[in-house]
Amino acid sequence: MKALIIVDVQNDFIPGGALAVAEGDMVVPIINQLQAKFDFIVATQDWHPADHGSFAANHPGKNIGEFIDLNGVNQILWPVHCVQGSQGAEFHADLNQEKWRAIFQKGMNPQVDSYSGFFDNNRQGDTGLSQFLKENGVEEIFVCGLAEDYCVKFTVLDGLEEGFKVHLILDATRAVNIQPDDFSKAMIEMENAGAVITHSVSI
Ligand SMILES: [Zn+2]
Repeated sequence: MKALIIVDVQNDFIPGGALAVAEGDMVVPIINQLQAKFDFIVATQDWHPADHGSFAANHPGKNIGEFIDLNGVNQILWPVHCVQGSQGAEFHADLNQEKWRAIFQKGMNPQVDSYSGFFDNNRQGDTGLSQFLKENGVEEIFVCGLAEDYCVKFTVLDGLEEGFKVHLILDATRAVNIQPDDFSKAMIEMENAGAVITHSVSI
């Protein structure tokens, strides 16, 4: 069984949002077309409490983009984003949700960030995604969404560690690109770890 995993296609990651990914909106029609090719689809949702430790605003004197030690994990500080119940945390209005089996929320623990759809960044919290996929006979996952250099990358890497065959759908993702080459660096990292880089028309 193969599954499509749609990572964090939420308003705050779309141009105009609090943590906008350039061209983030362009993945929406591509992902909607992709969904017709899958019987098993799940989504992840960044879902932070307002006091989350990854927000620069919660560390007086610190700026967005600076790094801090957050309970032993090197943490880049983000703008306030994807706060539980906010408009910014909602999925893009045009994203088709009809076939989704489940939504896996992450980033609820204010003490640790969670990029991957599987585990917190300190690998103590488990969203249950791996178990859900395995219980349903999924062996192969296709990952798309936002952002390629953070939540998509770590979902791909954890998927590989969990024993899935993992494909990254290159045209259905975009990067934050805090550094201009972050997109290609992340792609190489995923490929070196064993991910197959593919394109939506090839699926
Ligand atoms: Zn977040």
